Amino acid sequence: MSTSAQIGVTGLAVMGRNLARNFARNGYSVAVHNRTAAKTRALVEEFGDEGTFVAAESAEEFVAALERPRRLVIMVKAGDPTDAVIREFAPLLEPGDMIIDGGNAHFADTRRREKELREQGIHFVGTGVSGGEEGALLGPSIMPGGSVESYATLGPMLEKISAKAADGTPCVTHCGPDGAGHFVKMVHNGIEYADMQLIAEAYHLLREVAGYSPAEIADIFRTWNQGRLDSYLIEITAEVLSHVDAATGKPFVDVVQDQAEQKGTGRWTVQIALDLGVPVSGIAEAVFARSLSGHTELREASRGLAGPSVTPLGDAEKAAFADKVEQALYASKIVSYTQGFHEIQAGSEEYDWNIDLGSVAAIWRGGCIIRAAFLDRIRAAYDARADLPSLLADKSFAEEIAAAQDDWRAVLVAATQQGVPTPGFSAALAYYDALRAERLPAALTQGQRDFFGAHTYRRTDREGSFHTLWGGDR
Ligand code: NAP
Repeated sequence: MSTSAQIGVTGLAVMGRNLARNFARNGYSVAVHNRTAAKTRALVEEFGDEGTFVAAESAEEFVAALERPRRLVIMVKAGDPTDAVIREFAPLLEPGDMIIDGGNAHFADTRRREKELREQGIHFVGTGVSGGEEGALLGPSIMPGGSVESYATLGPMLEKISAKAADGTPCVTHCGPDGAGHFVKMVHNGIEYADMQLIAEAYHLLREVAGYSPAEIADIFRTWNQGRLDSYLIEITAEVLSHVDAATGKPFVDVVQDQAEQKGTGRWTVQIALDLGVPVSGIAEAVFARSLSGHTELREASRGLAGPSVTPLGDAEKAAFADKVEQALYASKIVSYTQGFHEIQAGSEEYDWNIDLGSVAAIWRGGCIIRAAFLDRIRAAYDARADLPSLLADKSFAEEIAAAQDDWRAVLVAATQQGVPTPGFSAALAYYDALRAERLPAALTQGQRDFFGAHTYRRTDREGSFHTLWGGDR
């Protein structure tokens, strides 16, 4: 092997293969390696003319092919396989070399791996990569963590292969030390779950309450995609809804089993939010909605339960209802992002990452699944005030919600009256109403806790901790 490669990719399934091709297409020489060598050979045979690839059959060959300091990207199945690959490669590396883990690792694993490898002088760069198979090839949104030092040489390469926002900015930023990148990617996926759930609820309402057909709803989504909801997920929703099943001639959405699956990053977002004490109710409802859909036995057993008698809207009311659903969807989306960014802020404080929230919004504007025009507004809100306590505290978002709230509430009234479940919309409105409330019933909760457990409470009129000697023979 004569050529020395500027970067190496091991793990050549869909993501790794396309990422390697992306580096090569951008002029980098790329060493490629996979546990099963046939995949390495197939990549070079099929796409060898796209750039300079160096095929390596063994770990030793792979490491020897890399120029120093070595930059080695791991794109294997997250979890134990990542540890196995690190165990295989780390002993072959030298201080100053970098291992970039682009898999969907849990940020706690990334923190552990970073610490272990740091002791060996190796930079471990836990990196979130979003955009799926196509993004990996054409330009993903990239969320690297790890040391500032590693970013100095790695950053320009990632910037080159990343997606570019509409203003040309590369969709990559150094998120912060150790697990910061994978944490940001985790919350990205949690927000993605919430976005998808809200869109699904909008579709459900347009179908069940307004009586629109999937093809008509596709057109409504296309119209929405021209406005403030302009996003990749709205765009593909219209495509999915207008798709007709070739075998039956029915709308595609009617021949697919209504059980949503999940891989785990949405669940992690909620689990970590619970640990950090951050209310991400919209994301949690989205995760639970997927779980509920999969409980076929529960749903079967509940099918005969009573519901309201449904009165579909007349033609004259349908269009106005669709406009209200757009308002409800947009307002709920603002709340989902508010919750997601709160979780990133809390994680950043807990782990001392110093994550720049405006930069996170900026790199999600292109390449990733939640890319949307809307993210430019979030970036602007954090640019205007970096210590914004909540997106809802931003004047322009607050004004938009104020304008949307009557319709938002009307949609939820209709949903409740017609028996259409809207856990995402409802959780978002409850969060909004709870945050803006002058007083919450938490005061009563504190009273109950003091009553049964002497847990004490704080008063509104003086400092200190208080306990009441409650009556009875407790
Ligand atoms: P994947 O199905 O998650 O993983 C397959 C790859 O892992 C293969 O190259 C496989 O090698 C390798 N592998 C598995 N166990 C191994 C072990 N013990 N030792 C060495 N190699 C092992 O592939 P993927 O869908 O391309 O995803 C790669 C990573 O990117 C994952 O962490 C995934 O979560 C993340 N990701 C995926 C997407 C997506 O849209 N698919 C998006 C963002 C991030 P063999 O060929 O030898 O089996």
